[in-house]
Amino acid sequence: MRDKCGGAANLRTPTLKIKRCPECGREIEVFSTDMEIKCGKCGFVIYNEIESCIQWCKYARECVGDELYKKLKKT
Ligand SMILES: [Zn+2]
Ligand SMILES: [Zn+2]
Repeated sequence: MRDKCGGAANLRTPTLKIKRCPECGREIEVFSTDMEIKCGKCGFVIYNEIESCIQWCKYARECVGDELYKKLKKT
């Protein structure tokens, strides 16, 4: 797969980040491809800001791949 715009680099190579639950302070592992993550302790749902070209790139389907495109586009 070629890079068309670079907007999808994060999505094709998922990176792991640690976020903190704003409700209970528990650390939560968040992959760059996760849209929303539920806190394992209190159930609070954290939304991930996905950096990608899906919203504006006309090659988005090719950029991120068919499967991921469908997953991210539906919301
Ligand atoms: Zn929590
Ligand atoms: Zn793109």
